Amino acid sequence: AEETLILVKPDGVARGLTGEILRRIEAKGYTLVDLRLVDADRELLAAHYAEHEGKPFYEPLIEFMSSGPTVAIRAAGERVIEGFRSLAGTTDPTTAAPGTIRGDLGRDWGLKVQQNLVHGSDSPESAERELALWFA
Ligand code: ATP
Repeated sequence: AEETLILVKPDGVARGLTGEILRRIEAKGYTLVDLRLVDADRELLAAHYAEHEGKPFYEPLIEFMSSGPTVAIRAAGERVIEGFRSLAGTTDPTTAAPGTIRGDLGRDWGLKVQQNLVHGSDSPESAERELALWFA
């Protein structure tokens, strides 16, 4: 089956929402193939977020992602890439649809970076690249 990289970002881990987020992934029927707690270093984060280098939120994003442990999940299932992004909701937690992880559990903290609880790969190519980085 298709695989994706899901991250419970440091805000999700710090708020004790890892279990709730895993529950939603499993309740949807996706399989947890591998899971680890990672203290992401700058090198990993720069590789993961290479496409955003130079954007105004890039430095705050790297800082935020370095602020505590992240839970990295290798999840599998039919159309899991698209399916998890649908479960996660849109980037901005204020306007993410209720029923989604970001819509139900996220809020705007008035910071330079959206602390939006989760990440999910956005294509098969990204999934392959990101899984290799986080599960090296
Ligand atoms: P989505 O693709 O659903 O928007 P994503 O996590 O893939 O979610 P990206 O566009 O890849 O979002 O951005 C990476 C991360 O950078 C976001 O999840 C968010 O934490 C932060 N971010 C993105 N855009 C902004 C923005 N305009 N202002 C503040 N933070 C942002």
